[in-house]
Amino acid sequence: INSLVTRCMSGAAPSSALPSPQTNPEILYHGIFINNEWHNAASGKTFPVYNPSTGEAIANVQAAEKEDVNKAVKAAQKAFKLGSTWRTMNASQRGNLLNRLADLMERDRVYLASLETLNNGKPYSAAYVADLELSIKCLRYYAGWADKVQGKTIPVDGSFFAYTRHEPVGVCGQIIPWNFPLLMQAWKLGPALATGNTVVMKPAEQTPLTALYVAELIKEAGFPPGVVNIVPGYGPTAGAAIASHMGVDKVAFTGSTEIGHLVMTAAAQSNLKRVTLELGGKSPNIIFKDCDLDHAVETAHFGLFFNQGQCCCAGSRIFVEDAIYDEFVARSVERAKKRNVGNPFDLNVEQGPQVDEDQFKKILALIKTGKKEGAKLLTGGQRYGDRGYFIQPTVFADVTDDMTIAREEIFGPVQQILKFSSMEEIVERANKTIYGLAAAVFTKDLDKAMYLSQGLRAGTVWINCYDVLEAQTPFGGFKMSGIGRELGEYGLQAYTEVKSVIVKVPQKNS
Ligand code: NAD
Repeated sequence: INSLVTRCMSGAAPSSALPSPQTNPEILYHGIFINNEWHNAASGKTFPVYNPSTGEAIANVQAAEKEDVNKAVKAAQKAFKLGSTWRTMNASQRGNLLNRLADLMERDRVYLASLETLNNGKPYSAAYVADLELSIKCLRYYAGWADKVQGKTIPVDGSFFAYTRHEPVGVCGQIIPWNFPLLMQAWKLGPALATGNTVVMKPAEQTPLTALYVAELIKEAGFPPGVVNIVPGYGPTAGAAIASHMGVDKVAFTGSTEIGHLVMTAAAQSNLKRVTLELGGKSPNIIFKDCDLDHAVETAHFGLFFNQGQCCCAGSRIFVEDAIYDEFVARSVERAKKRNVGNPFDLNVEQGPQVDEDQFKKILALIKTGKKEGAKLLTGGQRYGDRGYFIQPTVFADVTDDMTIAREEIFGPVQQILKFSSMEEIVERANKTIYGLAAAVFTKDLDKAMYLSQGLRAGTVWINCYDVLEAQTPFGGFKMSGIGRELGEYGLQAYTEVKSVIVKVPQKNS
């Protein structure tokens, strides 16, 4: 991803390096995907899906509710039955199927990146070089794990042979958000399928289109019916039905901390299904005066504005040492003013629209609150254009720890810059948040970097870089940013149950 980050950071990727997008990608699938077949909602209801660049509806998708989720869970249970094609498949063959899915995504990469841009609003260049690249790599990474998940043999007292098996958990409910629709789908499917689980997945109601296309690729790849079922629909109906279902053995959720509470409560009140949560953040990005300033300004800009600011790990509290504060602020404002906002299919565009009207309104309201509470608005702060959900790149300076914009997740293109003056104060201030997803430090002093990498209460600490998210390294939150880890070998734990098997060994040959 380093080259990807560099390409995204330096604006759009060079147009010559990218295949042209399909600016009007055909929307082929609108249904509920169960048992490798397309179904209509039992209720007959559909819901509209929008193009955030224009605000216009582009599709009507079948709205799954409880009855449809029940059907999907039944299919997933059947596919998981002992003796089924899936349960008896060689582990290496599960890996082959995941690789085949990655191949098909690679084949249809331009179309998928185009559809993601149409539905989510992210620049096509970013969708192509970041979302598609990382999704495909994630599937390949977990394909490699399929036949490498192994238990231990354990010496025990007495004449026994004891060993552990890492078995699939069973039916996994997976509820994903709209900010990285394809990537979140890959992060969830990769470890679940590598370890032999079956899946009932609900994409976000704002962005179901690429997930539904991938459903068809899952079938084409050769996964048996019922292994992956995809139920588009709303949170309180389809999402809640998954979280509270007695037949779902594990739920993995990515989204807001508020809904994370609901998912965990539903799990607790039903069958105590296993829960992993990847929630919000208000990540500190700490810039010392001995950093490489050009690099720090550009990376802090990228770490906040990437994906229209819609990243759970966005570096949204930028603490800058007082000696370089004014210069850092001036350069950040200059950089934000240069940010190229507009039609996300244009290869030179760095920033598209926010995902929907709710997010757009929420962000503008938080900008207002920032101004009211006394933060200094130095650029942006308004809607961009008069159509769709675009917001000007916005920079606030003189932000203090108690302001709403320094405490709440904005999830938009709004940068907050705070000042600090000593090492003693910064660890405490950086950690003074309910969240703990990520953090970053910019310094050339290894001692400072190591001290902070230990003191910061966050699941990921980046030193002199930001948003380096590789499939090999675990990702997840301390505190209210979540429970459990995704990616890497650690990401397999949530998808396996450990079974001890103890066998009596005869003392003598009879
Ligand atoms: P959300 O938490 O409401 O939605 C995420 C997913 O959960 C969606 O698929 C949604 O349909 C589902 N959901 C909603 N209610 C549910 C319920 N009761 N039971 C089960 N599933 C349910 O997020 P949002 O409303 O789309 O965005 C709100 C805020 O959440 C954003 O402003 C941002 O701060 C945060 N967010 C964080 C992430 C992340 O990656 N951590 C992603 C998206 C949004």
